[in-house]
Amino acid sequence: MSPWKRLLLNAYYHGTLPARWARRRAYALAGRMPVVVLFYHRVAGDRANEWTISDRTFARQIRWLKRHFNLISLSEVQRIMRSGHNHRPCASITFDDGYADNCHEAIPLLVKERIPCTYFVTARNVLEGLPFPHDVALGRPLPPNSLEQLRAMADAGIEMGAHTFTHADLGKLTDLEKLRYEVVTAADALADAIGRPMRYFAFPFGMQRNMSLLAFQMARKAGYEAVCSAYGGYNFPGDDAFHIQRVAADPWTIRLKNWTTIDPRKLGIGRYDGLANHKPATAAARSGKTQ
Ligand SMILES: [Zn+2]
Repeated sequence: MSPWKRLLLNAYYHGTLPARWARRRAYALAGRMPVVVLFYHRVAGDRANEWTISDRTFARQIRWLKRHFNLISLSEVQRIMRSGHNHRPCASITFDDGYADNCHEAIPLLVKERIPCTYFVTARNVLEGLPFPHDVALGRPLPPNSLEQLRAMADAGIEMGAHTFTHADLGKLTDLEKLRYEVVTAADALADAIGRPMRYFAFPFGMQRNMSLLAFQMARKAGYEAVCSAYGGYNFPGDDAFHIQRVAADPWTIRLKNWTTIDPRKLGIGRYDGLANHKPATAAARSGKTQ
Protein backbone atom coordinates (compact mmCIF):
# COMPACT_ATOMS: atom_id res chain seq x y z
CA MET A 1 0.00 0.00 0.00
CA SER A 2 1.40 3.39 -0.95
CA PRO A 3 1.86 5.97 1.85
CA TRP A 4 -0.75 8.16 0.15
CA LYS A 5 -3.32 5.34 0.04
CA ARG A 6 -2.56 4.46 3.65
CA LEU A 7 -3.15 8.06 4.68
CA LEU A 8 -6.48 8.14 2.84
CA LEU A 9 -7.59 4.85 4.39
CA ASN A 10 -6.63 6.11 7.87
CA ALA A 11 -8.66 9.27 7.27
CA TYR A 12 -11.60 7.20 5.97
CA TYR A 13 -11.43 4.75 8.90
CA HIS A 14 -11.27 7.39 11.60
CA GLY A 15 -13.73 9.70 9.84
CA THR A 16 -16.40 7.02 9.47
CA LEU A 17 -15.74 5.24 12.78
CA PRO A 18 -18.45 7.09 14.80
CA ALA A 19 -21.09 6.24 12.18
CA ARG A 20 -19.94 2.64 12.09
CA TRP A 21 -20.00 2.31 15.89
CA ALA A 22 -23.56 3.71 15.83
CA ARG A 23 -24.54 1.16 13.17
CA ARG A 24 -22.99 -1.68 15.14
CA ARG A 25 -24.75 -0.51 18.30
CA ALA A 26 -28.06 -0.57 16.38
CA TYR A 27 -27.27 -4.08 15.13
CA ALA A 28 -26.43 -5.22 18.65
CA LEU A 29 -29.60 -3.75 20.15
CA ALA A 30 -31.72 -5.34 17.41
CA GLY A 31 -29.97 -8.70 17.82
CA ARG A 32 -28.73 -8.48 14.22
CA MET A 33 -24.99 -8.11 14.79
CA PRO A 34 -23.21 -9.80 11.85
CA VAL A 35 -20.32 -12.20 12.41
CA VAL A 36 -17.01 -11.48 10.68
CA VAL A 37 -15.01 -14.49 9.48
CA LEU A 38 -11.44 -13.66 8.51
CA PHE A 39 -9.11 -15.62 6.28
CA TYR A 40 -5.33 -15.55 6.51
CA HIS A 41 -2.93 -17.37 4.20
CA ARG A 42 0.64 -17.22 5.42
CA VAL A 43 2.22 -15.76 8.55
CA ALA A 44 6.02 -15.72 8.44
CA GLY A 45 9.15 -13.69 9.00
CA ASP A 46 9.40 -12.63 5.34
CA ARG A 47 7.20 -11.02 2.69
CA ALA A 48 7.62 -13.75 0.07
CA ASN A 49 4.24 -12.93 -1.47
CA GLU A 50 1.48 -10.36 -1.15
CA TRP A 51 -0.61 -12.62 1.06
CA THR A 52 2.06 -13.09 3.73
CA ILE A 53 1.67 -11.27 7.06
CA SER A 54 4.61 -10.84 9.41
CA ASP A 55 4.59 -12.71 12.74
CA ARG A 56 4.61 -9.36 14.57
CA THR A 57 1.67 -7.92 12.62
CA PHE A 58 -0.30 -11.13 13.14
CA ALA A 59 0.28 -11.01 16.90
CA ARG A 60 -0.78 -7.33 16.93
CA GLN A 61 -3.94 -8.11 14.91
CA ILE A 62 -4.87 -10.98 17.21
CA ARG A 63 -4.41 -8.72 20.26
CA TRP A 64 -6.70 -6.10 18.66
CA LEU A 65 -9.28 -8.72 17.63
CA LYS A 66 -9.28 -10.20 21.14
CA ARG A 67 -9.98 -6.78 22.62
CA HIS A 68 -12.92 -6.04 20.32
CA PHE A 69 -14.51 -9.40 19.44
CA ASN A 70 -15.48 -12.73 20.91
CA LEU A 71 -13.30 -15.07 18.87
CA ILE A 72 -15.39 -18.12 18.02
CA SER A 73 -15.29 -21.35 15.99
CA LEU A 74 -17.07 -21.86 12.66
CA SER A 75 -19.63 -24.13 14.34
CA GLU A 76 -20.44 -21.26 16.73
CA VAL A 77 -20.72 -18.92 13.70
CA GLN A 78 -23.24 -21.34 12.22
CA ARG A 79 -25.14 -21.60 15.49
CA ILE A 80 -25.51 -17.80 15.54
CA MET A 81 -26.61 -17.68 11.89
CA ARG A 82 -29.23 -20.37 12.53
CA SER A 83 -30.47 -18.79 15.75
CA GLY A 84 -31.41 -15.59 13.92
CA HIS A 85 -30.15 -13.45 16.80
CA ASN A 86 -26.83 -12.03 17.86
CA HIS A 87 -26.02 -9.13 20.15
CA ARG A 88 -22.25 -9.58 20.50
CA PRO A 89 -19.41 -8.61 18.16
CA CYS A 90 -17.97 -11.97 17.08
CA ALA A 91 -15.18 -12.95 14.71
CA SER A 92 -13.72 -16.25 13.58
CA ILE A 93 -10.22 -16.96 12.28
CA THR A 94 -9.47 -19.21 9.31
CA PHE A 95 -6.39 -19.96 7.19
CA ASP A 96 -6.27 -21.10 3.55
CA ASP A 97 -3.84 -23.27 1.57
CA GLY A 98 -1.54 -24.79 4.25
CA TYR A 99 1.79 -22.95 4.46
CA ALA A 100 4.46 -24.60 6.65
CA ASP A 101 5.54 -21.24 8.12
CA ASN A 102 2.21 -20.79 9.91
CA CYS A 103 3.38 -23.40 12.40
CA HIS A 104 6.35 -21.35 13.58
CA GLU A 105 4.51 -18.59 15.42
CA ALA A 106 0.91 -18.00 14.25
CA ILE A 107 -0.68 -21.34 15.09
CA PRO A 108 1.23 -21.78 18.39
CA LEU A 109 0.00 -18.29 19.39
CA LEU A 110 -3.64 -19.21 18.66
CA VAL A 111 -3.27 -22.51 20.52
CA LYS A 112 -1.66 -20.78 23.50
CA GLU A 113 -4.42 -18.16 23.61
CA ARG A 114 -7.10 -20.85 23.09
CA ILE A 115 -8.47 -19.01 20.04
CA PRO A 116 -10.53 -21.25 17.76
CA CYS A 117 -9.26 -21.56 14.20
CA THR A 118 -10.19 -23.47 11.04
CA TYR A 119 -7.30 -24.41 8.78
CA PHE A 120 -8.13 -25.18 5.13
CA VAL A 121 -5.54 -27.17 3.20
CA THR A 122 -5.11 -28.06 -0.46
CA ALA A 123 -4.85 -31.85 -0.46
CA ARG A 124 -2.32 -32.43 -3.23
CA ASN A 125 0.20 -29.94 -1.85
CA VAL A 126 0.24 -31.26 1.70
CA LEU A 127 0.03 -34.92 0.67
CA GLU A 128 2.84 -34.65 -1.89
CA GLY A 129 4.86 -31.83 -0.31
CA LEU A 130 4.45 -29.59 -3.36
CA PRO A 131 4.57 -25.77 -3.34
CA PHE A 132 1.35 -23.99 -4.28
CA PRO A 133 0.79 -23.25 -7.99
CA HIS A 134 0.22 -19.51 -7.36
CA ASP A 135 3.67 -19.23 -5.72
CA VAL A 136 5.36 -21.32 -8.40
CA ALA A 137 3.87 -18.97 -11.01
CA LEU A 138 5.55 -16.06 -9.18
CA GLY A 139 8.87 -17.91 -9.05
CA ARG A 140 8.71 -18.09 -5.21
CA PRO A 141 7.87 -21.71 -4.30
CA LEU A 142 7.16 -22.03 -0.57
CA PRO A 143 6.87 -25.20 1.52
CA PRO A 144 3.42 -26.53 2.44
CA ASN A 145 2.63 -28.01 5.85
CA SER A 146 3.80 -31.54 6.48
CA LEU A 147 1.28 -34.14 7.56
CA GLU A 148 2.98 -34.23 10.97
CA GLN A 149 2.31 -30.50 11.38
CA LEU A 150 -1.34 -30.93 10.37
CA ARG A 151 -1.84 -33.83 12.76
CA ALA A 152 -0.22 -31.86 15.58
CA MET A 153 -2.47 -28.88 14.85
CA ALA A 154 -5.55 -31.12 14.85
CA ASP A 155 -4.42 -32.63 18.16
CA ALA A 156 -4.08 -29.11 19.57
CA GLY A 157 -7.71 -28.35 18.69
CA ILE A 158 -7.37 -26.62 15.31
CA GLU A 159 -10.24 -27.61 13.00
CA MET A 160 -8.96 -28.96 9.68
CA GLY A 161 -10.87 -28.19 6.49
CA ALA A 162 -10.62 -29.01 2.78
CA HIS A 163 -9.57 -26.53 0.10
CA THR A 164 -9.88 -28.85 -2.96
CA PHE A 165 -7.28 -31.28 -4.28
CA THR A 166 -5.39 -29.04 -6.70
CA HIS A 167 -6.46 -25.49 -5.73
CA ALA A 168 -8.77 -25.51 -8.76
CA ASP A 169 -11.09 -22.70 -9.80
CA LEU A 170 -14.41 -24.48 -9.25
CA GLY A 171 -16.33 -21.74 -11.03
CA LYS A 172 -14.88 -23.06 -14.27
CA LEU A 173 -15.27 -26.77 -13.52
CA THR A 174 -18.37 -28.34 -15.05
CA ASP A 175 -17.10 -31.92 -15.45
CA LEU A 176 -18.79 -33.86 -12.63
CA GLU A 177 -15.96 -36.34 -12.08
CA LYS A 178 -13.34 -33.60 -11.88
CA LEU A 179 -15.55 -31.63 -9.51
CA ARG A 180 -16.06 -34.69 -7.32
CA TYR A 181 -12.29 -35.14 -7.15
CA GLU A 182 -11.83 -31.56 -5.93
CA VAL A 183 -14.75 -31.48 -3.49
CA VAL A 184 -15.17 -35.05 -2.24
CA THR A 185 -11.96 -37.01 -2.93
CA ALA A 186 -9.88 -34.16 -1.46
CA ALA A 187 -11.77 -34.37 1.85
CA ASP A 188 -11.54 -38.17 1.98
CA ALA A 189 -7.80 -38.15 1.30
CA LEU A 190 -7.18 -35.45 3.93
CA ALA A 191 -9.37 -37.21 6.50
CA ASP A 192 -7.41 -40.43 5.94
CA ALA A 193 -4.04 -38.69 6.19
CA ILE A 194 -4.82 -36.45 9.18
CA GLY A 195 -7.21 -38.72 11.02
CA ARG A 196 -9.98 -36.10 11.35
CA PRO A 197 -13.18 -35.55 9.34
CA MET A 198 -13.23 -32.50 7.04
CA ARG A 199 -16.37 -30.72 8.20
CA TYR A 200 -15.76 -27.48 6.30
CA PHE A 201 -14.77 -26.59 2.75
CA ALA A 202 -13.28 -23.34 1.41
CA PHE A 203 -13.50 -22.39 -2.26
CA PRO A 204 -10.09 -21.52 -3.77
CA PHE A 205 -9.98 -17.83 -4.78
CA GLY A 206 -13.47 -17.57 -3.22
CA MET A 207 -14.97 -14.86 -5.44
CA GLN A 208 -18.52 -15.36 -6.69
CA ARG A 209 -17.13 -16.28 -10.12
CA ASN A 210 -15.03 -19.05 -8.51
CA MET A 211 -18.08 -20.89 -7.12
CA SER A 212 -20.92 -22.84 -8.69
CA LEU A 213 -24.31 -24.16 -7.71
CA LEU A 214 -23.09 -27.64 -8.71
CA ALA A 215 -20.18 -27.42 -6.26
CA PHE A 216 -22.51 -26.18 -3.49
CA GLN A 217 -24.87 -29.10 -4.07
CA MET A 218 -22.01 -31.59 -4.18
CA ALA A 219 -20.52 -30.22 -0.95
CA ARG A 220 -23.90 -30.40 0.78
CA LYS A 221 -24.43 -33.98 -0.40
CA ALA A 222 -20.90 -34.96 0.64
CA GLY A 223 -21.78 -34.04 4.22
CA TYR A 224 -19.85 -30.81 4.75
CA GLU A 225 -21.26 -28.65 7.54
CA ALA A 226 -20.61 -25.49 5.49
CA VAL A 227 -18.67 -23.99 2.60
CA CYS A 228 -16.70 -20.74 2.81
CA SER A 229 -16.35 -17.99 0.23
CA ALA A 230 -13.81 -15.17 0.26
CA TYR A 231 -15.41 -12.19 -1.48
CA GLY A 232 -15.79 -10.12 1.62
CA GLY A 233 -19.34 -10.43 2.93
CA TYR A 234 -20.54 -10.46 6.55
CA ASN A 235 -22.69 -13.20 8.12
CA PHE A 236 -25.98 -11.95 9.49
CA PRO A 237 -28.11 -13.88 11.95
CA GLY A 238 -30.75 -15.64 9.85
CA ASP A 239 -28.52 -16.01 6.77
CA ASP A 240 -28.08 -19.53 5.32
CA ALA A 241 -25.58 -21.18 7.69
CA PHE A 242 -24.32 -23.53 4.98
CA HIS A 243 -22.52 -20.64 3.31
CA ILE A 244 -20.07 -18.71 5.48
CA GLN A 245 -18.83 -15.48 3.90
CA ARG A 246 -15.28 -14.42 4.72
CA VAL A 247 -13.28 -11.20 4.70
CA ALA A 248 -9.56 -11.01 3.87
CA ALA A 249 -7.25 -10.46 6.86
CA ASP A 250 -5.10 -7.81 5.27
CA PRO A 251 -1.38 -7.35 6.06
CA TRP A 252 -2.32 -3.69 6.64
CA THR A 253 -3.96 -3.65 10.05
CA ILE A 254 -5.85 -0.43 9.29
CA ARG A 255 -7.66 -2.29 6.50
CA LEU A 256 -8.40 -5.24 8.82
CA LYS A 257 -9.84 -2.81 11.39
CA ASN A 258 -11.87 -1.15 8.67
CA TRP A 259 -13.38 -4.39 7.33
CA THR A 260 -14.10 -5.93 10.74
CA THR A 261 -15.96 -2.86 12.05
CA ILE A 262 -18.47 -3.22 9.19
CA ASP A 263 -17.52 -1.06 6.27
CA PRO A 264 -20.77 0.08 4.61
CA ARG A 265 -19.19 -0.52 1.20
CA LYS A 266 -19.13 -4.25 1.97
CA LEU A 267 -22.78 -4.31 3.04
CA GLY A 268 -23.81 -3.87 -0.57
CA ILE A 269 -22.24 -7.20 -1.53
CA GLY A 270 -25.07 -9.68 -2.05
CA ARG A 271 -24.76 -13.26 -0.85
CA TYR A 272 -23.91 -15.79 -3.54
CA ASP A 273 -27.05 -17.73 -4.40
CA GLY A 274 -25.67 -20.16 -6.96
CA LEU A 275 -26.49 -17.97 -9.92
CA ALA A 276 -24.30 -15.59 -11.86
CA ASN A 277 -26.40 -12.64 -10.75
CA HIS A 278 -26.39 -12.78 -6.97
CA LYS A 279 -29.07 -11.48 -4.60
CA PRO A 280 -28.83 -7.79 -3.82
CA ALA A 281 -28.56 -6.99 -0.12
CA THR A 282 -31.96 -6.07 1.28
CA ALA A 283 -32.18 -2.70 2.97
CA ALA A 284 -34.02 -4.07 6.01
CA ALA A 285 -31.57 -6.92 6.50
CA ARG A 286 -28.59 -4.59 6.46
CA SER A 287 -30.02 -1.66 8.42
CA GLY A 288 -30.01 -3.35 11.81
CA LYS A 289 -33.82 -3.43 12.02
CA THR A 290 -35.51 -6.68 12.90
CA GLN A 291 -37.56 -8.16 10.11
ZN1 LIG B 1 -6.30 -20.87 -1.55
